[in-house]
Amino acid sequence: MSTMARKSGMRNRWGKGCTLVPQLDYSCNESRMDDVIGDAEWCWFGPFYGAYQVNFRDGFHIGAGQWLRKDWDVKPVDMVKRVAEIPAFQAMCRVLEAKPREYQAHLLPWMEKPVKSYRDGMMLVGDAAAFPCPLEGEGVWHACTSGKFAGEVAALACSSGDASEKTLQEYEVRWKASSLGLEHKFGKEFTELWDNSIFNPELMKKQIQFLLEFSMLHPFSIVFDWGDAHMECFNQHLEHFLDLAPEFADFAKTYVLPLGKGIHPELVERMMLQLKPNVPVLKHFSDKTYLKVLPRLAKMVMPAGLKQG
Ligand SMILES: Cc1cc2nc3c(=O)[nH]c(=O)nc-3n(C[C@H](O)[C@H](O)[C@H](O)COP(=O)(O)OP(=O)(O)OC[C@H]3O[C@@H](n4cnc5c(N)ncnc54)[C@H](O)[C@@H]3O)c2cc1C
Repeated sequence: MSTMARKSGMRNRWGKGCTLVPQLDYSCNESRMDDVIGDAEWCWFGPFYGAYQVNFRDGFHIGAGQWLRKDWDVKPVDMVKRVAEIPAFQAMCRVLEAKPREYQAHLLPWMEKPVKSYRDGMMLVGDAAAFPCPLEGEGVWHACTSGKFAGEVAALACSSGDASEKTLQEYEVRWKASSLGLEHKFGKEFTELWDNSIFNPELMKKQIQFLLEFSMLHPFSIVFDWGDAHMECFNQHLEHFLDLAPEFADFAKTYVLPLGKGIHPELVERMMLQLKPNVPVLKHFSDKTYLKVLPRLAKMVMPAGLKQG
C-alpha cells in the first residue's frame, strides 16, 4: 500500500508498475496431498497470464497474474477461473476432494529496478522499495536481505546520532554491492523475458506446444509410435518440430540471448573448449589460438541479430 513511502513524500502509488495477482484458495483431503502432489510446485501453462499452483499441508491455491499496465482481456477473477476450468486441474481437484476456500487478490511491485530507497530519517525495505526479483517476482529473501542492511545502517545512524540522507546513503551502497544489486543488473531483460512469455497468453499457446514437442524429442518416444513405421514416425516429429522452431528461435534471440552478457567469461571459455573436440578442423588450433580466433570467426558467420549476444 506504500503508506509510509507516500506520506513521507518519497514516491507516489505504484500505479502501473505493479502486478495484480488473483488467487483461488482450496482446502483438500490432507492425507492425499503427499500421494498426489508431494513437495512439488506446479505451473499451469497455456493461454493464461502466469498461472501457478502453490501447495500446502491441507490445501493449495492457484493464481494467475499480470502487470496493471497491460490490458487484461478478462476480469482478473475470470482469468483465474479459466485456469480452474483446465480438465487436468479439475481431475486433480476430484482426487484431492478439493473445495474452494477463499478468493484473494494481491498487488506485487515487479519492476526492472528498485526505487530510491532512502531519505532523511527513513529507509524503504522489501516490496516498499520494489526489491522483488525482476524475473518472477519472488520477494521474500529480497525483503529479508534489504531489511538486514537497513538494520545495520540504522544502527550506524543511531550510534552517530546522524540519520541524514547523506548517512543513510550507505544503505543503498550496501544493497547495491550485494546479491540484491546483482539481481536487478539484468532487470530490464528479465522483465521483458517474462512479459513476452508467461504474461503473453497468445505466445504461450504456441510456446508450450513447442516445449512439449521438444521434451518428447528423446530417442525412444519419437521413434516408438506403434501405429506407424518407426522412421516415418521420426520424420513426422521432426517436421512438426521444424515448423514450430522458427518462432521459438525468434523469442530466444530477442529475450534469452541478451542474458548471455551475464555469463562469466571463464565459463564462456569452458563452453568453447568443450565444443572444440566436436569440430575436427579445430584440432589444428592450440587452445589459446582457438579461444582468440573463435569469437571473431563467430561474428563473421553469425546472423546480425545474434552478434550482440
Ligand atoms: C500472490 C503472491 C505470491 C508470492 N509468492 C512468493 C513466493 O513464492 N516466494 C517469494 O519469495 N515471494 C513471493 N511473493 C512476494 C513476497 O510475498 C513479497 O515480496 C514479500 O512478502 C515482501 O515482504 P515485505 O516485508 O516487504 O512486505 P509485506 O510482506 O507486504 O509486509 C508488509 C506488512 O506491513 C503491514 N502494513 C502495511 N501498512 C501498514 C501500516 N500503516 N501500519 C502497520 N503495518 C502496515 C502489512 O499489513 C504487511 O503485513 C509473492 C507475492 C504475492 C502477492
